Amino acid sequence: MIKKLKKSPKVAVCLRCGGHGRILGKDGSQQVCPQCEGSGRCVVSCEMLLNIEPFKPYDKK
Ligand SMILES: [Zn+2]
Repeated sequence: MIKKLKKSPKVAVCLRCGGHGRILGKDGSQQVCPQCEGSGRCVVSCEMLLNIEPFKPYDKK
């Protein structure tokens, strides 16, 4: 059977920029963080599909 797990969205500090909203670009200049778009926080949610099957070691044909 397939079981669906869902976590409701949560506001968390953006890990990519550490909550500053800006990151250092390749050329050393400050850029707006693409993950939080400058707000320093992100909404994180999660969805998982679990496939659960019975374990039958003696059920060989
Ligand atoms: Zn960010």
